[in-house]
Amino acid sequence: MRRAAGLGRLIPGQAVNSLPPLREVIARHGLSASKALGQNFLLDEQLLDRIAAIPGSLKDRAVLEVGPGPGGLTRALLRAGARVTAIEMDRRCLPALAELAEAFPGRLRVIEGDALKIDPASLFGEEAYAVVANLPYNVGTALFTGWLSGESWPPRWSSLTLMFQQEVAQRIVATPAEPSAYGRLAVLAQWRGAPRLAMKVHRSAFTPPPKVMSAIVHVVPTAMPEGVSARLLERLTEAAFGQRRKMLRQSLKGVPGALDALERLGIDPQRRAETLRVEEFVNIARVLSAGG
Ligand code: SAM
Repeated sequence: MRRAAGLGRLIPGQAVNSLPPLREVIARHGLSASKALGQNFLLDEQLLDRIAAIPGSLKDRAVLEVGPGPGGLTRALLRAGARVTAIEMDRRCLPALAELAEAFPGRLRVIEGDALKIDPASLFGEEAYAVVANLPYNVGTALFTGWLSGESWPPRWSSLTLMFQQEVAQRIVATPAEPSAYGRLAVLAQWRGAPRLAMKVHRSAFTPPPKVMSAIVHVVPTAMPEGVSARLLERLTEAAFGQRRKMLRQSLKGVPGALDALERLGIDPQRRAETLRVEEFVNIARVLSAGG
């Protein structure tokens, strides 16, 4: 039997709990998952509601969602009362998202484009926004490092809630007690932010399932340590972890003033980067920032 045209379409103002199943939306709009765009969709609405709850109450809060795809997480964010701005680069998803925007009048703004090329500040003006995204690994890491970089702090975003490969999530929250995971990403995320591993997500939760397990990291900004240049800290960790097997006296040779800073701070130059706590990196960067 052929389906009546439009059956399953969202009706403006339609009761939130009567949205058509995501599988039906995907089938109706022909949204076969594209490998090139890293598309692994989440379809379990209960799981999606749990993810949308990670940032805390979203009632009337502005949310930036990157990569909404067919809109599963978007629905959960809207159900939680958020005002969502979503950036999606796959134009095949736009009709499904337009239906969702109709069902939640005035609550969803969809922007077609590459999130790596769009400055979110231009979308929100002065308003703080929470970021929530289930993104392909490479795009997620590039956006994450961008959001955590720069001299200006606190950032415009109030929190980041992002899906990563579990191994990457572990690197973000790692301490020197986990030397194989601890590195630049941990220092970047932790020196003026508090990241936590909020949820592990089994690969079978995705359609199609990716090869590896995933995990969601939630980060809130913390106070920026005084007198520290983000650029110098980045330079320091790049040098230190670039040769992580070497002692600091070797790996930091190329960073002007770094060996003197170690001496001044009483940090043994025979240590290796992976043994230095985040505060120790910050202290070295502070000495460098003061010009030695
Ligand atoms: N949020 C949906 C979910 O959880 O089911 C889709 C997740 S899927 C892993 C990633 C989404 O990000 C896809 O819809 C893909 O088209 C989109 N995407 C990939 N790269 C992007 C980029 N650079 N900018 C914006 N969206 C992107």
